[in-house]
Amino acid sequence: MPIKPKTHRPPYKAPPRQSARERGYTTEWDKASRRFRRDNPFCAQCLKDGRLTASQVVDHIKPHKGDERLFWLEANWAALCKPCHDRKTSAEDGGFGNRAHQNASKAGCEGK
Ligand SMILES: [Zn+2]
Repeated sequence: MPIKPKTHRPPYKAPPRQSARERGYTTEWDKASRRFRRDNPFCAQCLKDGRLTASQVVDHIKPHKGDERLFWLEANWAALCKPCHDRKTSAEDGGFGNRAHQNASKAGCEGK
């Protein structure tokens, strides 16, 4: 009796809720982001703190929330390193599905 060969499947990967592309991060953005980081090779936040860290991402200083004008407004961009960017976005989004900090006082259930 023939033995069925083992099938090799790639490990299951859950689909992202919304892809970066769907949030407006297109090839155009990739290009603009790369160019901006070439012009701003150091993390703006680290520079403020007196450190020289290579920039890795382009952050929207004011969250664009789908606003195309704000998204492409270069004056609203900041080159950041990954740790600084993650810190900033988690403070804005509240991180891990929590409410944003700016709304905490209004939320009523998480204030002190
Ligand atoms: Zn930094």
